[in-house]
Amino acid sequence: MTRMRRRDLLAAGGAVALFAPALARGQIPGGAETILIIGAGLAGLTAALRLRETGRRVIVLEGRSVAGGRVRTIRDPFDNGLYGEAGAARISDVHHFVLHWLNRFGLNAVPFSPPEGRTIFVNGAVSAFSDDPRAGALLEPDLREDERGFLPSELANHYLEGLPENLQSTDVDAEMLAGWADFDGVTWPQWLKKRGASDAAVRLLTLGADSSDISALYVLRQIFMHRAGRAYLKIEGGMDRLPRALADELGDDVRYDCCVTAMEQTRDGVSVSYRENGETKIASGARLLITLPFTILRDMDITPALSPEKRAIISAMPYRSSIRFLLQSDTAFWRMRGLSGAARTNAPCEIWDASFGQLSVHGLLSVTAGGRADMRARFAEMDEQAQLALGSDMAEAAFPGFKSHYQKGFTQNWTDDLWSKGAFAVSHPGQMTRWGEKAWTPEGRIHFAGEHVSPWPGWMEGALWSAERAVQELL
Ligand SMILES: Cc1cc2nc3c(=O)[nH]c(=O)nc-3n(C[C@H](O)[C@H](O)[C@H](O)COP(=O)(O)OP(=O)(O)OC[C@H]3O[C@@H](n4cnc5c(N)ncnc54)[C@H](O)[C@@H]3O)c2cc1C
Repeated sequence: MTRMRRRDLLAAGGAVALFAPALARGQIPGGAETILIIGAGLAGLTAALRLRETGRRVIVLEGRSVAGGRVRTIRDPFDNGLYGEAGAARISDVHHFVLHWLNRFGLNAVPFSPPEGRTIFVNGAVSAFSDDPRAGALLEPDLREDERGFLPSELANHYLEGLPENLQSTDVDAEMLAGWADFDGVTWPQWLKKRGASDAAVRLLTLGADSSDISALYVLRQIFMHRAGRAYLKIEGGMDRLPRALADELGDDVRYDCCVTAMEQTRDGVSVSYRENGETKIASGARLLITLPFTILRDMDITPALSPEKRAIISAMPYRSSIRFLLQSDTAFWRMRGLSGAARTNAPCEIWDASFGQLSVHGLLSVTAGGRADMRARFAEMDEQAQLALGSDMAEAAFPGFKSHYQKGFTQNWTDDLWSKGAFAVSHPGQMTRWGEKAWTPEGRIHFAGEHVSPWPGWMEGALWSAERAVQELL
């Protein structure tokens, strides 16, 4: 389990003692001892449960009518109980907080991808198997002589040799951040070039997702923090089983269809304005835990204003754009061809077999197109049929014949999602070393949690890690 800092814990305890909460309880929910939590995603739900277990009164205000946030399992419109994920789809066996919570609710983690079957890489009209040593040269004919003959995964490792092992640490301090400044000074493609990679190698190593504006430090942290992992897993029955189990246990402490619009803190307590059934209401409490993505928080009124530094981080934090397509086919025909259903293409997109492990005659491909603004713009102008056709085209490029098997589908554009306005937090060069822990330090009675204020941005693990950190601040 990740170590939390003792000094943070002591600082939070001191603040609680200084300001005795004094707001009166009326017909408004909450009260002097209550901890208000905004958002019933994984961060809000687990923080609420942990706090309640220590005897604290909690109220979770959630804007949607269901819990789970960006953990969303899609069952409709698919046939025979087939399901896929609109958001979080896999975990690693190094995600200790996730495994802890799965264990607590008796939920099974099962393999994410088949042990057998080949993965395909596609670049335009050319495709190659990822386990073929000729793949690099086939996909990128301009690859330098000394870069040929490697599997794509080996080529990546070649450029990662000799980097500091502390890149995998979850307990980051200022000294460590200072030592990583060079990695944070450039984008991932720029860093690969600095390490000696040719343009063709950079294209090969970034196949499947656009990383042209992402800090090299962000990518290196993701790689190193997952290095000890032996397997990717998923929750049997759907990823939403975890937030559903949490929400069931919390019962009426989660209030749905309550869209928070503003927040206020005084010397004595906090209050939150929210819309419920067309009315504006106010909840009050001793402290406030905000788990909203910063894309949402940046448009909200907070009185008095947060520190200039925090406001700057909240308004500048970049979020990944991501479009997920779930495409049902009559059969998982790729398995008959010895394929795993996984592919990376220059669309750019990443594909996997979401039906793997499910008892169904149908196949379900998950196609994720990430990053590129031109794709987002094209997608936004299309009707649903055209959007699904775009997803099918991407699947067809990796699995020729897919379109003749395609039956129905679902799409989710996370940038347009009212409740997240983006997929997950990323970092542009300079931001990680400049911001450090400042993104999540509390401001008076206001605390912050969510994947974006953790060392695991983009992962459920980050949401759960941040919740535990916030709970320790609050106790
Ligand atoms: C496309 C995609 C792919 C991903 N893939 C993976 C993966 O494979 N593995 C993995 O581990 N993670 C993955 N993630 C990340 C993972 O889903 C998130 O890190 C995690 O679910 C975030 O939890 P959270 O509690 O921080 O935020 P959220 O889940 O966003 O929770 C915030 C909550 O606040 C609510 N809210 C928003 N506005 C308001 C308001 N005004 N008033 C009240 N409530 C409000 C929202 O409805 C939401 O329920 C993926 C995410 C996306 C989008």
